[in-house]
Amino acid sequence: MLYVDGKWVEEGQVAVHPEDRGYNFGDGIYEVVRIYKGRMYQWDGHLTRLFRSAKEIKMELPWSAEELTDLANQLITKNNITENDDASLYLQVSRGSAPRVHDIPSGIQPVIMGFVRRKDRPVADMKKGLTAQLVEDIRWLRCDIKTLNLLGAVLVKQYAKDAGAQESILHRNGVITECSASNLFVVKNGELYTHQADNLILHGITRQVVIDLARNNGITVHEEAFDIAFLKQADEVFLTSTTAEIMPLISVDGVAVGNGQPGPVVLTLQDLFEQHINTSVLV
Ligand SMILES: *Cc1c(COP(=O)(O)O)cnc(C)c1O
Repeated sequence: MLYVDGKWVEEGQVAVHPEDRGYNFGDGIYEVVRIYKGRMYQWDGHLTRLFRSAKEIKMELPWSAEELTDLANQLITKNNITENDDASLYLQVSRGSAPRVHDIPSGIQPVIMGFVRRKDRPVADMKKGLTAQLVEDIRWLRCDIKTLNLLGAVLVKQYAKDAGAQESILHRNGVITECSASNLFVVKNGELYTHQADNLILHGITRQVVIDLARNNGITVHEEAFDIAFLKQADEVFLTSTTAEIMPLISVDGVAVGNGQPGPVVLTLQDLFEQHINTSVLV
């Protein structure tokens, strides 16, 4: 069952308002939350980010944190997600519907929609790693907002696929930012490098978990921009996201990273992440 604008509905029963601004403009925000063994991982972080994204697009959410938590839990139970299931929760809030003008109509009511799908962890890919292609970052200048407006992300991912790679690594004028739907890290001489959390990247929750795990385990982390040349001579490269977790990237533009296999630092971080999942309080 899905939750759409205050109602529980089955798939196929949903009609989008023709002038819903999420549909017309991508005017809205979203979150993807991991569910491990029937419970949510890092829910507080996702909730905080959803409220921040709303604020940054001048949208006031009419729901409290408690109401949204209750909704998320209802989505899990109504879809029979149990302790035997890994899943993902998708929540989006569109600005709402109103006669089509660009500026924000006053009195418009946000429309919320949520669903849950069973989703296994990408175990095989995490062991093997993925191939990546460098693509120019053609997105806008507020990549810190988790917005529904994803055409830039759609295209950069497709450019990578068209070039025969599984993932895109984005650069702005030669400076590496992130991937199409995940954050990027490189390892050089045992230390981690990732773009600082500014307006050019999405401030990933998994990114922050990895930074904290690394620092707590004596691995130095540099949150600073680096260029294509630095990426190309990295010892290891990996991406992070809610659904991809910690995913090694084993080649860039057809050239192997290191020896072309997931390296020691990424494997250590995967182990630490596994322990973190198993010892975190899930809600
Ligand atoms: C969602 C997203 C991420 C990853 O964030 P998580 O909170 O770790 O899932 C990274 N980059 C972009 C562009 C994203 O949309």
